[in-house]
This record gives sequence, C-alpha cells and structure tokens, in this order.
Amino acid sequence: MVENQTYWNMETETMSRDKLLEYQWSKLLPQLRYAYSNVPYYRRSFEDAGMKIDDIKKVEDYYERVPFLSKTQIIENQKTNPPFGDLLAVKPEDLSRIYIAPGPIALPFTKEEYDMLTSMVAKGFYICGARKKDIVNLAANFHWVIAGTALDEAFRKIGCAVLPGGPGMSKMHVEMMRLTRTTVLMGFTMFVLKLGETAKEMGIDPSKELSLRLLIVLGDVRTEDTKGRLEKTFGAEVREAYGTADLGLIAAECPDGGGMHLYEEILAEVIDPKTGKHVPFGEGGEIVASDIVRRAMPIIRYRTGDITEGLNLDPCPCGRSTPRLKRILGRTSDIPKVKGMFINPSEVESVIKRHPELGKFQIIVDRPRLEDELTIKVEFNKPVDKGKIEGFLVNELKEVIRLKSNVVLVEEGTIPQDAGVLDDRRKV
Ligand SMILES: [Zn+2]
Repeated sequence: MVENQTYWNMETETMSRDKLLEYQWSKLLPQLRYAYSNVPYYRRSFEDAGMKIDDIKKVEDYYERVPFLSKTQIIENQKTNPPFGDLLAVKPEDLSRIYIAPGPIALPFTKEEYDMLTSMVAKGFYICGARKKDIVNLAANFHWVIAGTALDEAFRKIGCAVLPGGPGMSKMHVEMMRLTRTTVLMGFTMFVLKLGETAKEMGIDPSKELSLRLLIVLGDVRTEDTKGRLEKTFGAEVREAYGTADLGLIAAECPDGGGMHLYEEILAEVIDPKTGKHVPFGEGGEIVASDIVRRAMPIIRYRTGDITEGLNLDPCPCGRSTPRLKRILGRTSDIPKVKGMFINPSEVESVIKRHPELGKFQIIVDRPRLEDELTIKVEFNKPVDKGKIEGFLVNELKEVIRLKSNVVLVEEGTIPQDAGVLDDRRKV
C-alpha cells in the first residue's frame, strides 16, 4: 500500500452507484447460497418463509423474500443447542476465534474470515484518516467482545503502532498518551470525553500537551454538541465509525463528514421498526444488514435494533460512492417515532441543559385519539416563571426535534426516581 493515499481500495470505493449495487449483489448472492446450503437454521427459516434459494435472483427478491434475523432469534437458537445452535456452517475444529456479544451470543470465526473481517475494519479506519505513521491508543474493551483484539489487528494492518489501552485506568491513559506521543485515540465517546476531563484534573491541557490529531469514536455521538466538545478538548479531528457487537464495523466517516460511508460490501437497508417495511429513501429507521465475509456463522438480513437518521445519498466530495449512514439516534426501544419523526432523547436533553434552573425530564408519547401527542415534562429546581420558560422550550425544542410538543414544568421530585426517560403510552 502507498502511504498517505486517499483510498484503501480506490477501485471498489469509487465505483459508480450502478456498479456498486452490482458489486454488492455479486458478494451477497453467494453468501445467501452458502448460508442456505451450510446452515440448517437458514435453510429452515428460508423454507418457512416459503422461499427456495433459486427464487432469489436479484436484489429485489432479497428485499421481498429473505426473512429478517433478530438478536432474540440468535439467542434462542443458541440457548436451545449450545454453543452455536444450528447456526454453525463449519466444523468446530476450523474455528480460530470466538467472541461473545451481549445476549449472550457466541460468535465463532475461522482464521480466513477473521482476516477478511479485520481487513474491512482496517479500511474503515483508513477512511477515518488513520495512516501508517500513527501511534494509536485503543481504548476499547479487549475482553470477550468483538472490539479490542479485532480493532487492534485492523490498525496494525494499516501499519499503525497500537497501544492496547483498553477501557478504565484513565490517568494511565493520559500518562501513556503523553509519553508515547499518541496521535490517534479510539474508544467510546463517553470514555474519550472522560479522558479529556481526567487530563484536565491532572493539570494537562489535552489540546496542547498531548499529540492527538485524530479521535475515532464508535458511532455513539448523539449530538453535534458532543462532537464539538471532543474537538475542542483534544484539538483533534473527530471521526465516527459504526458497528454492532454482532456485525462488527460496517461504516466509517471520511474527512468530509455528512455521515459514515457504508463499506461497499455492505448492502444496508433502513426499515420502519414497527412494520418491517423499507422507509422512503433517505428517511430514518432501523438499520438492517447482512455480513458477507462470515464463514463460520453467517449473519443474514440482521436487524441491528439501531435507529439512524437515514442514509445520505448525496455524492461525497471524497469521491467514495457508498451512501453515508447519518447519525445513530439510539436503540429502537429508546427512540420513539412520533408523527413520523424519530425523537432523540439526547437532543431533548441538550435543549433542557441550556437552562440551569431545569433538571430531570421525561418524554411522554400518547395517542389519545388518532394523533400522536408529545409531552415533555421537566422539573425545575428554583422558582421560575413557568409560562415563560414553557414557551421558550416549546420553540427551542421545535427547532431541534422538528416537532411541536407540549411542555409541562413540574416541581423537583415530581418525576419518580425510577421513571425512564421515555414513557410511550400508545397502545399500537
Ligand atoms: Zn466521503
């Protein structure tokens, strides 16, 4: 590989949209056939859905016929017949790595597919801007899960030198990053923010006394405020990568922003989590994707449970042609769809936090008649002009969540301690 070139694989990253779809289908169809022939679970689930593998000839057939796979289905299947249920496509002696995803789900890998997987992740980090000369502090979990060790391998494939920092021990992180002149830091957003705070507590200005030029965070930046805070604290660029504990990383943000480029091997869909139908192009919904490199345990049409704002289909100045996955708003269980719009509790919080006299809040969604109704209940902690603040909040919230809500100010302690942020009272 040529150092500092723009692309990891120029040919596939910059192909036209038509070619791209052809390319994705050329990868996905053999994977469907492989799963059908080698995994009893898929043979059964395809047949239960009234589908023969030869019926699947084009991508539309895939969308219309291939059943979804949910996390619960994997958990139940493995629980019935541990450790892998009837999802295993290879002989147990061919496995070289087993990760555990929350559930628990056992995720087996052969040596060959692990190599392909980490190469795809390497491409993602390359898109984010990591290069051969970088010294990377990897603050992801190395135990059990498909994070630390796989991401470590991916950075080393680019040629970076990696510190396996892991999570926790934040002072040590700051000290070691200063000592080794770490240039790239990767981790979950909350932990990276914490490292910034820790550095300041230690009397170190992370933007001046550390050498970080790039932060790669794991798709959990819920608001632009957070991104700005990270950039300012560390004086570094911030890029996001998106993946799940079962799929691994499937999208990464280039220097031009506007979302995270899906890998060209990944044909992602965005569905309405309630109906399972595709949303109109560009609109928000739940991310569904198949993994095309898995050999040991194929993952086909997997419902991630993550809600995205949608796909950005505009051409990207970087020249990559894959759609960009817009912000991840949260989990399907936490992000209500109200009047066709997804409401992100973090965005509501960012508005409420502008007012120091306000505290705990609750989002209440109801459908008293035929229409959804959105109410934001907010506690105040000192005497306020209720009517005035409520009026402000209605307008400020409308700017951010693009919906009109009822705002009700209540005294501190009114919202029960154990109440969730979201109270969805709709019956259907
Ligand atoms: Zn781009």
